[in-house]
Order: sequence, then structure tokens, then C-alpha cells
Amino acid sequence: GGAEYLFVIEESLKELAQLADTAGLMVVGSTHQKLNSPNPRTYIGSGKVAEIKSAIHALGVETVIFDDELSAGQLRNLEKAFGGDVRVCDRTALILDIFNQRAATHEAALQVALAQMEYQLPRLTKMWTHLERQAGGQVKGMGEKQIEVDKRILRTQIGVLKKELESVRKHRKQYRNRRVSVPVPVVSLVGYTNAGKSTLLNRLTGATVLAEDRLFATLDPTTRRVQMKNGGEFLLTDTVGFIQKLPTTLVAAFRATLEEISESSLLVHVVDISHPLAEQQIEAVDKVLSELDVSSIPKLMIWNKVDKVCDPQKVKLEAQKREDVVCISALSGNGLDEFCSAVQEKLKDSMVWVEALVP
Ligand code: GDP
Repeated sequence: GGAEYLFVIEESLKELAQLADTAGLMVVGSTHQKLNSPNPRTYIGSGKVAEIKSAIHALGVETVIFDDELSAGQLRNLEKAFGGDVRVCDRTALILDIFNQRAATHEAALQVALAQMEYQLPRLTKMWTHLERQAGGQVKGMGEKQIEVDKRILRTQIGVLKKELESVRKHRKQYRNRRVSVPVPVVSLVGYTNAGKSTLLNRLTGATVLAEDRLFATLDPTTRRVQMKNGGEFLLTDTVGFIQKLPTTLVAAFRATLEEISESSLLVHVVDISHPLAEQQIEAVDKVLSELDVSSIPKLMIWNKVDKVCDPQKVKLEAQKREDVVCISALSGNGLDEFCSAVQEKLKDSMVWVEALVP
């Protein structure tokens, strides 16, 4: 039905905007179009191309992101149509950018690099046919040969990366034990992108920036130290958020960015309880967690954004009925004390586990 279709499109575009924001871009607008099938040359129809082109000029747009994967030809044709220095990319390339920024371990970095190369392989044509055009067709055929050479080089690099990944995986246990030498509990935030993980992280730690903290300088930049009122402390670390529409080609890279959470003392699952798909999102996160090596780690669930639901009292009652669920508003600060107490209570149970891992 039409309404359902619109809801799906709008949710997907909202998520795409959030991902662009995470990647450091400023979103100035979005648009969609209903076609029976994508245009093979430009994905969207020619009228839409013209409409976007005039918006690009009016708003000074630098990047146009498509919510579905584009072929090499579509990327090239769209860039040509929009003209100038406008960069065209798709959801997959954007997500790869984010994973790349956020890969905290060597293994995750390798896995993301591999996914990036595999994404590039079928799209190599772009650069060389472009050069051929510039040369005015005098070097016809040269581009094609060069593409073959480049593809061979890329395939070799992919092979090397795969071998390196294998060897890193074999030695993973050793790396892990060496990394976990900090006698402070590590609490990892997991959840969907936009659930409010970084808002919670910032809210709890104020302006504490870890770069100044020598002891923890080796930890990744999304980790902060939280000092509790009773003097206890823990490290709070943010992870790459789950994505509703994760391209299947990126599943391995995404899991790799999550692998570090198996070193945590506690997993805090942050849920945007005001989201219409909250229930499905919880299930999807639980499913991935059950497939990772984290079953022995205690878990706590946070229902965030209670300020945004229409009946907060009902939601709070529902949370009370369940075990290990705390309602908060990371934005207003409501429920943060309760959250800290719950974390502390959970950490009591897991200290033994942390100390056992420290060499
Ligand atoms: P992350 O992707 O999980 O790190 O999510 P962010 O922390 O970036 O938050 C995503 C959006 O939700 C931001 O616009 C936040 O201001 C908003 N947000 C976060 N927590 C709350 C909350 O408790 N209530 C409301 N109303 N909005 C929130």
C-alpha cells in the first residue's frame, strides 16, 4: 500500500541522514521518487536528475548520497549530469566511510579495508573511462587495458588482506589479553544508530576528554571515563551503531567493528523507545549479540528518549515489569542516577571476570 511504502522510504531516508551526520556531513535536504524499476543509466528519472541539479546549485551541495547501491555506470552518469565537483555516492560507500573512521582494532581495520576493496573492484571502470574521454578518444582501448591491470592489482591486495586477517584472527586471543591490562571495568554501549548512545556518553562524562589521560590514551577516542558519586569509576565506550538497512556485503565489516565488545565487563543496550520500530530493533540487536562471543557478559537495557513517548508513565511501568531495564532521557538527564546505580550493581557481579582476564 502507498502509506506503508512511504513510511518505509521515510524511515530509510531518515536513517541515511543520520548516517551522513555521523560521517561528519551536514544534510540540507532529501527527496525520493517512485519508479516501477530504477533507470539503468541514472537510477532516477531524467526529470528528477534535473530537479536535483537545480537544488545542487541553489544550495551549494557538495555530495549527493543515494539510498541504494549504484552501479559504476550510474555513478559516472550521475556525476556527469550534476557536473562540477559534486561527489555522488551510495549508502554502502557512506557506511564504509563510517566503519573506516570507527574501526578501533587492527582486525576491524583490516575487515573494513577488505570490504572497501571489494566494493571498489566492480566500480574501477569509472576512473579510466573518464581519462579516455579527456584524451579525446585518441587512446581508445588504453583505458580498458589499464582497468584489467588495476583489477589484477586490487585482487592481489584483497588476497593479501584476507591472509593477514586470518593470521590476526588466529592470534586474536593473545592480542586481547594484552589489551585488557586496565584494572577498571569497561562498559560498552550498543544499539541502533540514533538511539542516543553518544548523547548518553557525553551527558555522563561532561567535558572529560580522554586524550589528556595518559593511562587510557591507548583506548579508542570514543571511550570516556565515568566517575561515580561514591568514588567508583568505569570506562564507557561507544560502538558503531546498528543500521536498519545494512547492505549484506557489509555484515562482516560491521561485526568486526563490534568484536571489541567481547572485552567488556558490561554491555548496555541503548534503545530509542520512542521509535516506531523499537521492538524490532531490540530483537535485531539481541540476535547479533547472541552470535558474538559475549554470552558470559552481563547486560543492561536502557529505554532512552522516554521524554518523547506519548505516555511516559505507561512505558516506565512496562520497564519496571522487566528485569534489567532502566528508563532514561539522555537529553534531559532524567534517570541518569538510576542508570549509574544499575551499572554499579551489575559491575559487582562482573569484577571477578575482569580480574581473571588481566594478566
Ligand atoms: P547515537 O547515534 O546512538 O550516538 O545517537 P545520538 O546520541 O547522536 O542521538 C541521536 C539524536 O537523538 C540526537 O538528535 C539527540 O539529540 C537525540 N536524543 C538523544 N537522546 C535523547 C532523549 O533522551 N530524548 C530526546 N527527545 N532526544 C534524544
